[in-house]
Amino acid sequence: MAKNPKAPDTRSGRSPTRRPRPRRAKAVPEASSAADIEDLAPSVPGAAAPGAAAPTALRAQLLRWYDAHRRDLPWRCVSGSEEERAYAVWVSEVMLQQTRVPVVVAYYERWMARWPTVRSLAAATQEEVNEMWAGLGYYRRARFLLEGAKQIIEKGLFPCTALALREVRGIGDYTAGAIASIAFNEVVPVVDGNVIRVISRLYTIADNPKESSTVKRFWDLVGQMVDPLRPGDFNQAMMELGATLCSKTKPGCSQCPVSSHCQALALSREKSSVQVTDFPRVVPKAKPRSDFAAVCVVQIAQGLEEEAADPKGNDHLFLLIKRPEEGLLAGLWEFPLVLVDQGKTDLLNRRKAMDKYLSKLLSIDMVRKPDVILREDVGEHVHIFSHIRLTMHVELMVINLKDGVDRLCKKGADSTKLKLVNESCVESMGLTSGIRKVYNMVRAFKEKSLAVSEIGHVPTRKRTRRLKR
Ligand code: SF4
Repeated sequence: MAKNPKAPDTRSGRSPTRRPRPRRAKAVPEASSAADIEDLAPSVPGAAAPGAAAPTALRAQLLRWYDAHRRDLPWRCVSGSEEERAYAVWVSEVMLQQTRVPVVVAYYERWMARWPTVRSLAAATQEEVNEMWAGLGYYRRARFLLEGAKQIIEKGLFPCTALALREVRGIGDYTAGAIASIAFNEVVPVVDGNVIRVISRLYTIADNPKESSTVKRFWDLVGQMVDPLRPGDFNQAMMELGATLCSKTKPGCSQCPVSSHCQALALSREKSSVQVTDFPRVVPKAKPRSDFAAVCVVQIAQGLEEEAADPKGNDHLFLLIKRPEEGLLAGLWEFPLVLVDQGKTDLLNRRKAMDKYLSKLLSIDMVRKPDVILREDVGEHVHIFSHIRLTMHVELMVINLKDGVDRLCKKGADSTKLKLVNESCVESMGLTSGIRKVYNMVRAFKEKSLAVSEIGHVPTRKRTRRLKR
């Protein structure tokens, strides 16, 4: 998102050194089903709210501050065509939803090194994209990015207005406004959590910022304020102010470029009972739902005789299951996981549930057929999603399949619902942070509990008996 685009606009033939002429948004975008995941935008922002101000001085002060203090972020240094900048803005803005800038920078750089253009992204697989996204959370964002890229390539043109961008899968009003204003210089607003904080304070708005009427008001206000000549910079400056100086708990009002316009600051000086941090109103978050799961890290010995087996168990395979294509963590790989009722989280019930699940999945009688070499409770890991608190009760199970793993491997290759991978593959593949923690727990457990034996690897049943004597 270069401030001054240097490369020619391939569609308009615009001078490479000139900033694209600002485009006025013709109409407020209609709502579509393709909403951003964390989008706050109203469907149809309406008329200007009374009392709104679009002071020229405020714009000028804000932009001057932004020019002098803006952070050097990789997506702000993209030169090239409008389309290239639009792609960079898109990727960065989607990554930045619910994720802090320092975390995003590394992900963004890896992503752009692998898929530098929307066309290259469109050719990627969902699995590759998930792997690249692993650890960023909110995986639906990655999925929408890929689907959106495919849609754009199919249509043959990168949409260049907020209205057209809203038609792309996963792009809502926020992302559309950011891409349109920053990459295409369209005069449209952008409202995110940072902007809401700044606007709430500038205009002492104490209404519930989660309510749609209040959100609409924010869009209206910012819509009137956007600089007609530098809409992208203005939007970024607002977000930058909210992300840096106008922070949630410790705003740096003494250095704020727009403090002379800030009604919250003025009010706090008049009344000692008021603080600028009273704005926006803090709305208590809904308590997350509590879920409980049995997770079994299944390690499969390949039916080799003890003498032929790798003494460290490196030839063992881990069983991974693909989650359903819809819902939480859609399409991602995990260790076998079964949800259990809160009242049934004891070991017996968890094992019962897991055995039933594995029997069906692997077509194995879990009680009779496999030679379970080891089955140990490893511990608990609590993973917090935005709306769920998931307690995972983790166990490790090592199975010796006497007839080898060929049958299971075939099943995995056929169904694409399960796969068997070796340890180095688990180490390097993109797992969700929750599943990665489960894996690390198991690894630490093995190191602590099993490697202390004189054998130094996962014991067979025979060895276990020997150790007990
Ligand atoms: S004066 Fe303080 S509260 Fe007001 S916008 Fe600036 S940093 Fe935020």
